[in-house]
Formats: sequence, structure tokens, C-alpha cells
Amino acid sequence: MNSFRNGWFSEINDLWPGIVQSLEVDSILYNDYSTFQHIMVLQTKSHGRVLILDGIIQCTEKDEFSYQEMISFLPLCSHGSPKRVLIIGGGDGGVAREVAKYPTVEKIVQVEIDAKVVEVSKKFLPHMAKGYESNQHELIIEDGFKYLKNQNDKFDVIITDSSDPVGPAKLLFEKEYFELLKCSLRTNGVICCQAGTIWTNMDQVEKHFTACQSVFPKVNYGISSVPTYPTGQIGFLLGSIDDCIDFKQPRKIFSESELDNLNLSYYSSKIHESCFILPRFAEKNLKRN
Ligand code: SAM
Repeated sequence: MNSFRNGWFSEINDLWPGIVQSLEVDSILYNDYSTFQHIMVLQTKSHGRVLILDGIIQCTEKDEFSYQEMISFLPLCSHGSPKRVLIIGGGDGGVAREVAKYPTVEKIVQVEIDAKVVEVSKKFLPHMAKGYESNQHELIIEDGFKYLKNQNDKFDVIITDSSDPVGPAKLLFEKEYFELLKCSLRTNGVICCQAGTIWTNMDQVEKHFTACQSVFPKVNYGISSVPTYPTGQIGFLLGSIDDCIDFKQPRKIFSESELDNLNLSYYSSKIHESCFILPRFAEKNLKRN
């Protein structure tokens, strides 16, 4: 089926069969293949510029903040005082932008597999790619799985801002990946991974959650609304080797004026505490500790 019809782009994918999200398009700004994937940037009528990889919407200028803030501030505030942060994926730069805001962070290492996504984001999505401008930031172009396998650095927080579990990101959803993450964490370290939606992908969320739980003593799954992701909702898996951690109680609470100064529009400690409250069917499927 064609993704373009009558000036609309439709996100048709077997990951969410029978349901589709469409955006009305003004123009195609970029459309080419890298070594790893098909990359497209669209100028849309209602959601600004949109980055699409292998036909799947990664972020839109209109609602990206909800995803980038939550995947970053949930683990950062759960930890409380992280100094060293690792980002796997995140080619658009939005997560690096958010992590760089956190007051105690001294070093951000980002491992992205596809240099072309970084280049295209710097050119067409400067508001997200400004994460690359931070002095604390170091970019490594490599497969995140391979990087973790071959390095000895330790981090307080590791964020996996990957694409969905197909193509180059497939391994980032497996038990072996969580084992590598565990080896790269400092004491009290926290991980956070993009973890799909309970509406179209409950099986996948459950599998991902179970893999994480087989490696980390503390695991939880929180949700955020992102209108342009399938079903308008996405989840995050949080894990830690710190037995005392309670993800529902952030160790760092920012005041309203601090949240304003950090330019946060979605994240707050109230959102943090409430995002782990799940509908009953999801609660039953995820045997949480
Ligand atoms: N927020 C987005 C979402 O959930 O749809 C993810 C955004 S970000 C653009 C995803 C990035 O993960 C892409 O730039 C992709 O190249 C990168 N990626 C995929 N597999 C990877 C791997 N094995 N190692 C490192 N980066 C990877």
C-alpha cells in the first residue's frame, strides 16, 4: 500500500495492523536511503517538520517535547543526582537536548548507529538537534549493542531512545541488551528505554518488560501521551540495580519556577508519580515489583 495519497502521508506498518495515522503534507524536505534505513523529513500542515525512518514517524516538531522530556526526566529525576549519562540512539538530538538541561549532569555520551540521521536532523530539525551543541556532549557513531559489548565506562543513567524493534534496533529489546546495560551502570544506576504502547503492542510490551525484569531487580513501566505515535500513547521501561529505588517517587522534585527555567512543558513531578498508574488490563499483564 502506498504511504502517500492525495497529499497525505500514512504510517502503515505491520507493527500496528489495521490502524493508521496520517498527516497532511506540505512538502518533502528530504527523502533518501542511508546504509541502515530509509530517511524522510516532511513539512506537514499541522505538525511542523516530521522525521520518518523506514516509514515510521519518529518525532514531529509539534509534540516531540512530551516524549523527549519524559524519556529523559523520568530516569534523571528517579536517580536524583546523575553525573554521567549514556544515550543509545536518539539521532534527532532531542533527548541530548533534555539531558543537557539537568543540573548535575557533567558528561553525555551518545551512541547512534546512523550518522545520516544526525546530519539530516542538524539540517532540518535544529530545535531538536541543538542537543549536539552542548559542551558536555560526545557523539559516537556505532551500533549501541556493539558499543556496550566492547566498552568499560560506567554511567548513572542510560537512556535507550531507539526506533521500534525492527531493523537496526531489534537487538535493543532483548534480554542480552539489558545484561549489557546492567554491566555499564554505576551503583544506583537507572536505565530507561522506549517501550511501545499497551494498545496495539501489549504482547511486545510484556515480552520487553519480562526481559528487563529478568536482569534488573527493580522495573516499572510508565506512559506518556504523544499524539503522533500509534494510538497516541507510548511507554517507557525503567530499571535499576538499586533495590531501594521507587520509580513512583522521584528523588529530585523541581519547583514550578525551576520547571519553567528548564523550559519543561510536559514533565512535572506530578506527571512522574502518576505515569505508572496503568489501566487494569495492562496492570494484570505486567507483574510489577
Ligand atoms: N522517539 C523515537 C521513537 O520512539 O520513534 C526514536 C527516535 S530516534 C530518531 C531513534 C534512533 O535510534 C534512530 O536515529 C536510529 O538510527 C537509532 N538506532 C536504531 N538502532 C540503533 C542501534 N542498534 N544502535 C544505535 N542507534 C540505533
